[in-house]
Amino acid sequence: MRRPIPAATLAIMTKSPITIGSLTAPAGTRATGVVSVDVGTATLDVPVAIVHGSRPGPRVSVTAGIHGAEYVSIAALREVVLGLDPHAVTGSLVAVLTASPAAFAARSIYVNPLDGLNLNRQFPGDRDGSPTQRLAHWLTTKVFVDMHCGDMNEALVSFTGIEETGDASVDARSRELAEAYGLRYLLIGPSPGTTTTAAAALGIPAVLGEVGGQGRWPREDVALHAAGFQRVLHAAGLIDAAPSAPAHPTEVLATEAWMRATTSGYWHPAVAVGDRVPAGTVVGEVQDAFGSVLERPSAPMDGVVIFLVSSLAMNAGDPLLALAG
Ligand SMILES: [Zn+2]
Repeated sequence: MRRPIPAATLAIMTKSPITIGSLTAPAGTRATGVVSVDVGTATLDVPVAIVHGSRPGPRVSVTAGIHGAEYVSIAALREVVLGLDPHAVTGSLVAVLTASPAAFAARSIYVNPLDGLNLNRQFPGDRDGSPTQRLAHWLTTKVFVDMHCGDMNEALVSFTGIEETGDASVDARSRELAEAYGLRYLLIGPSPGTTTTAAAALGIPAVLGEVGGQGRWPREDVALHAAGFQRVLHAAGLIDAAPSAPAHPTEVLATEAWMRATTSGYWHPAVAVGDRVPAGTVVGEVQDAFGSVLERPSAPMDGVVIFLVSSLAMNAGDPLLALAG
């Protein structure tokens, strides 16, 4: 398998064509097509778009569909990228439009059906590993903005996420880009195995964006995600103008706690996404088929419910919700 191109850095100045697999875009052009990625047991057709601006400048790389059933992010990225005129772009944009095609086709939540692994826990990947690990390896060093939303079974409030690397200039750039996204909350903290952690380890400013979920992709959510991403492109210097940011301020949340089920059964949440709950609040209960309570978990910290599993079905070990405060 070909080595990944060390592409995703700011301030790459280039006039030579950009090539990803079989796809090549000279300056001033857009190239779109599927790129074959050998993941060992299968070859994936990954849809990629390269918008190579007429003027040299920074490169932004972006993924959507790391989770195949997160439709707001996939729809928003397609909308922005397919509408960009390369003659209006400074620098270049490399977009992986649906990063896990097998998961998209299967409408799979959380995991890639090829091996049952969560791609968003496998970065920076392993070129000799399982299919998902090989896919993560192929994507690593191409990612800078990672667009997600709640999965098929998750509701969430809109937020961005960044890492703190200890490199002040990288961290400041990530923060600037996250603030440009303009979503309701900004979560700062480690997320092992994710794109932003892998990018940070490479010294690449990186931001996660999350809007919407539950297998739906209503117009207002797609527009919010798309406008945020356009503001990131503007902040990165690629485009001259972007939609203005929402009026609300972005609130920074620096601590996060995921709550997971310890039993399988029927999930009855007692809180709503976006609620601010004090530590000790009972957040819901998992019942058996006949209504007996199997567990009644309580919040381990004060925080905002940033995502909430909305399916009645619950499996031991799965997330119930996450709090951030
Ligand atoms: Zn996701």
